[in-house]
Amino acid sequence: MSRYQAPLRDIRFALFDVIDAEALYARLGFAGAQRDVMDAVLDEAARFTENVLAPINAIGDEIGCAFDKDSGAVTSPPGFVHAYEQFVEGGWNGLVAPEQFGGQGLPESFGVALKEMIDAANLAWGNYPLLSHGATEALKHHGEAWQQEAFLRPIVSGRWTGTMCLTEAHCGTDLGLLKTRATPNAADGSFAISGTKIFITAGEHDLTENIVHLVLARLPDAPAGTKGISLFIVPKFKVGRDGAMGERNAVRCGSIEHKMGIHGSSTCVMHFDGAQGWLIGQPNKGLMAMFTMMNTARLAVGIQGLGLADRAYQNALAYARDRLQMRSLSGAKFPDKPADPIIVHPDVRRMLLTCKSLIEGGRLLSYHAATLVDVLDHTSDAEEKKRADELLGFLTPIVKACLTEWGVECTYHALQCFGGHGYIAEHGMEQLARDARITTLYEGTTGIQALDLLGRKIMQLQGAGLQHFLGMIQAFCAEQSGNAALAEFVGPLALIAQEWQALTMEVGKRAMANADEVGAASVDYLFYSGYVALAYWWARAVAAADASSPTDLKTAKRETARFYFARILPRTLAHAASIRSGAAPLLTLDAALFDS
Ligand SMILES: Cc1cc2nc3c(=O)[nH]c(=O)nc-3n(C[C@H](O)[C@H](O)[C@H](O)COP(=O)(O)OP(=O)(O)OC[C@H]3O[C@@H](n4cnc5c(N)ncnc54)[C@H](O)[C@@H]3O)c2cc1C
Repeated sequence: MSRYQAPLRDIRFALFDVIDAEALYARLGFAGAQRDVMDAVLDEAARFTENVLAPINAIGDEIGCAFDKDSGAVTSPPGFVHAYEQFVEGGWNGLVAPEQFGGQGLPESFGVALKEMIDAANLAWGNYPLLSHGATEALKHHGEAWQQEAFLRPIVSGRWTGTMCLTEAHCGTDLGLLKTRATPNAADGSFAISGTKIFITAGEHDLTENIVHLVLARLPDAPAGTKGISLFIVPKFKVGRDGAMGERNAVRCGSIEHKMGIHGSSTCVMHFDGAQGWLIGQPNKGLMAMFTMMNTARLAVGIQGLGLADRAYQNALAYARDRLQMRSLSGAKFPDKPADPIIVHPDVRRMLLTCKSLIEGGRLLSYHAATLVDVLDHTSDAEEKKRADELLGFLTPIVKACLTEWGVECTYHALQCFGGHGYIAEHGMEQLARDARITTLYEGTTGIQALDLLGRKIMQLQGAGLQHFLGMIQAFCAEQSGNAALAEFVGPLALIAQEWQALTMEVGKRAMANADEVGAASVDYLFYSGYVALAYWWARAVAAADASSPTDLKTAKRETARFYFARILPRTLAHAASIRSGAAPLLTLDAALFDS
């Protein structure tokens, strides 16, 4: 079984030393977010995730969920219900939820630290409360007052969980194709929802007394495509306007999927047979309302990649220090032992340092992106709000796609460090690699995140978010220009920031002439952007460590940053070359000749 110890030191370093979240929270008026309170919460979160969630991670994988086809009931793996009860009793569910609905109102970006620990400890379990957070966001922003009163309190308290019902058999990425129908019930203003959704995470389970589905469906006479989609709230047990829970609604789980990983997370086919639902927000504007949910969910899935990568790295590191194989090429490092520990070998260090640099850099990238959610929700300055919105929109696909792809990469590196033992179930490394694989797929595949970044955030919105990020890099480089100790990072960072801008212009020009250029460049552009963004955060990490950290941390940050700049940042060269090769190499081979 793999072990997990919450990386509290690096979480605190990221939040408080680099991002300076404490000052931001004070400025935004978060009354409860003082350092001593947050430190105590982080300690407790570590205890809960290490002692309650981590020990049932392997059991969840081995036993998985069970489905009873007669009743449509889903039973979660042993220990999941009890862990959820403790989660709710501890008040974790409402940590960042609004106080007016019973939450604790702590900052979203602070909640991301808890989220990372949950995902690392037990990703499959973490999927049950995950979508409650998304449902809270959608209701908070788009729900009517009675809907907020009736649904938000039980969701925030943890008595009910939420789901997100978008996907149908014939439509995943292309939601414009969806067929689920919503017919008005004249009597009470509700709607009858009919259709079948597939792949619904936590669509049915035994953790809570009710489940609240957020469902995309079409009203009669709705325009075709994405402009004709509305959002509905459809509870498993009906809920009246007074919030009272009533009879069973006409929604039922038809089966659960058997899948590569996250066996403890139920993935359900959901049948809606004229189920009572309530419209959220405006008719035909459902996709916009759902995007409120999807953006936070996309950041959250990025954090899943981070958490799994970190757990895998922790185990690989311990193994590499312990496992004795062969001597170092430059002579024995531990002559008293029968062989050297494998951590002396450059190739094992390559794998470990790749993980360490992507994880710690990714933590800064994602935590900072989450602070923009706090700014967006809490600032009263219109200009600051606009900037946060544009920057968050730009960073969300980068966080989602890069952190999940790096999660896959790191769990594979970590498994490789174990040699053949990594492939054997006993060590738990193969579970982490299998679990990580879903993160690049759900909440929009990597390819779709890349299209969102280049097609929408760069081309349609004229790169406003990129300009803000480049502004952050320029300001940092200017501020550090006299700091000789940082010159080895600041110089290359300033240069690559210029190339990023030039490359963006090149792609933009080409795309004006041929729209396929966007699709051809998008994934390379996304990774190029992710690696440059991480270079910025690594340079900032060294600056912050130099300013106040103990010697071991200072040295570790500097040496890891050197590794990142020397060994990982050059991946941008290959991405830039691919981008510059244009669409032709991808499009000239006729589809009929792919098997010739
Ligand atoms: C375990 C699990 C849990 C899930 N949970 C939920 C959930 O809770 N709620 C929910 O609604 N859905 C859920 N999903 C569905 C998930 O979000 C979709 O599977 C995903 O969005 C991709 O859709 P698809 O599978 O239909 O693939 P498709 O849309 O058919 O895509 C197939 C491939 O084509 C690529 N592609 C498609 N269009 C384009 C394009 N225009 N340009 C470039 N590439 C393109 C995709 O990137 C992908 O590689 C879940 C799925 C799984 C497996």
